[in-house]
Amino acid sequence: MNPPDLYDVAVVGGGPAGSATAGFLARAGRRVVLFEREEFPRFHVGESLLPATLPLLERLGVGATVAEHGFQVKYGATFHDQESGLEHTFYFLRGKPWPSHSYQVPRAEFDALLLEHARKQGVDVRQPVTVEAVAFDAETVSVTARTAGQVLTARARFLVDATGRDALLASTHGARGRIPNLGKVALYAHFRGAARAQGRDEGNIRIYIFEAGWFWWIPLAGDLTSVGCVMHARTLGSWNGAREDVFREMIHRCRRVAQNLAGAEQVTPLRASANFAYRNRPIVGERFLAVGDAIAFVDPIFSGGVHIAIQSAELAAQALDSALDDARAAATRFAAYERAIRRGLAPFFRFIHKYYEPAFLELFLQPKPQFGMIDAVLTVLSGGGFAGMSVRTRLSLALLFSIARVNLWLRRLAGRPVESRLEW
Ligand SMILES: Cc1cc2nc3c(=O)[nH]c(=O)nc-3n(C[C@H](O)[C@H](O)[C@H](O)COP(=O)(O)OP(=O)(O)OC[C@H]3O[C@@H](n4cnc5c(N)ncnc54)[C@H](O)[C@@H]3O)c2cc1C
Repeated sequence: MNPPDLYDVAVVGGGPAGSATAGFLARAGRRVVLFEREEFPRFHVGESLLPATLPLLERLGVGATVAEHGFQVKYGATFHDQESGLEHTFYFLRGKPWPSHSYQVPRAEFDALLLEHARKQGVDVRQPVTVEAVAFDAETVSVTARTAGQVLTARARFLVDATGRDALLASTHGARGRIPNLGKVALYAHFRGAARAQGRDEGNIRIYIFEAGWFWWIPLAGDLTSVGCVMHARTLGSWNGAREDVFREMIHRCRRVAQNLAGAEQVTPLRASANFAYRNRPIVGERFLAVGDAIAFVDPIFSGGVHIAIQSAELAAQALDSALDDARAAATRFAAYERAIRRGLAPFFRFIHKYYEPAFLELFLQPKPQFGMIDAVLTVLSGGGFAGMSVRTRLSLALLFSIARVNLWLRRLAGRPVESRLEW
């Protein structure tokens, strides 16, 4: 039995990655303390979930609570390109290891629900408490935190960095790697009274691509719609007016968004996220590992952030559970976790890069069912790529990328644009 002041694991951050890691560990019988800086509920960007997240929530023991909460159900994703007029809706497939739906969630509610679940599993949740420093010795990690002017300390055998974009460990013990040229900005708000699709299409995420960037359109329950514009920082930088004016101008330029917002009322202040593309290091050490956004983030186009957060949480909890059973010190004990993370992120990131190439986008918006290509695209769009893809799915994706290369040459010969729009 541990002495009361020595936890098995200290988790910093109570977003989806932190509360899921803590929850999985507590269910495995581990003593876990979790520090979260904010009072919940609190706003967070990232409201569209993927189907492959639902089996993870089941294994965490919170699947039924999420299903019964009343979140907007999402059956697919619609992509529309203003320039070419091409549009396609991908409906999540049946008969996969994940369901054919997911949810659109106000993160204030979703994150509070996950953290409350972790508490119910026995996690010692300290909130609002900001972790200011961590120090490692051969056997333990010491955490120094602050709440309302008071200093708290705790010791644990291992530490999990789940601090999201703040990336506590990379900032203090490593490096935060910004990805050059991907300095993007998102401006977003919630609206009431926006146009709603009917029936099964009501909850689809919609992506509207236009010349300055793209909009997300996420229908939430209760007639709320989350609308966000992603553009390059230089677009915002070249603007003299207020952010609100830029947002209004972008809505005006993206005709579908303008039409669908006619008569709607903005009910939250305009919020912004900037410079969200980075890869951090280290993501593991002898006594710590990082989960979720504390590892890396590239682009929100395929709504993968929360899935990566909860999938990495499950893998991290498994790695920590084994490490806790093995008293030997070993610098390489989390190497397999790191490999699994890099393998899981690679197809996702590759797909994001491809998506911004006009030659690929053109095929993506007119998908052909031959050789399992739609199935392969949907596997990635559902989040199924992270846990490992079948050989058939890999071959289908490779074929799709090869056809995109041929299309690139055809476009080049015809004098049509081929440059990636990722750096917009
Ligand atoms: C513009 C944009 C749009 C996005 N859209 C989507 C989407 O549609 N779908 C999707 O799945 N993902 C989306 N994402 C990504 C998603 O927001 C993140 O991937 C997800 O929130 C990661 O979860 P996390 O738990 O790792 O980090 P977070 O959710 O950020 O949680 C980190 C927590 O750590 C706490 N914390 C930080 N520092 C400390 C400290 N020192 N002490 C104590 N607590 C601390 C914070 O308060 C926070 O609650 C989007 C991201 C952006 C930028």
